[in-house]
Amino acid sequence: MADDAAILRERGIQVTAQRLAVFRAVAARPHLTADDVADLVRAEIGAISLQSVYDALGVLVTEGLVRRIQPSGSPARFENRVGDNHHHLICRSCGRVVDVDCAVGAAPCLTAAQDMGYEIDEAEVVYWGRCPACVRRVQTPSRSDPSPARRRGRPGRRTLPAKKPQGRSRN
Ligand SMILES: [Zn+2]
Ligand SMILES: [Zn+2]
Repeated sequence: MADDAAILRERGIQVTAQRLAVFRAVAARPHLTADDVADLVRAEIGAISLQSVYDALGVLVTEGLVRRIQPSGSPARFENRVGDNHHHLICRSCGRVVDVDCAVGAAPCLTAAQDMGYEIDEAEVVYWGRCPACVRRVQTPSRSDPSPARRRGRPGRRTLPAKKPQGRSRN
């Protein structure tokens, strides 16, 4: 396992127990909110204020060790997978976030056609939808069936809600 303290030092970050614990928490469980990070850190090193967690995250983000994503309607999430232009799938129902590799493999799709004079430093792609668990929950008729493993008989797909016409309509 890499020496986390050395990684911080390499970026010129003064190493403290709190920063180290925050960095490790983000590495252990990507896409956590600051609140989640605080919980993990407290479990590891004891008391830490939410403000200290925010401060540590801020330093790590500024130095490029942690990436911050801010899905609309959700608190910011943090992850240590940086610098690879990956995107995110976010579930509208439960908020679950997962990584998905860049469709193109590099960032040209994120280069604005015109910058309109802005100094652009970031672009992001978020795919919104529903995670498999939430899709299954909707498809399973009201009786509660906790084991999705075997559904008998019926092939369960259909019932996308009528909204969200995905660009193309076949007719
Ligand atoms: Zn979900
Ligand atoms: Zn991610």
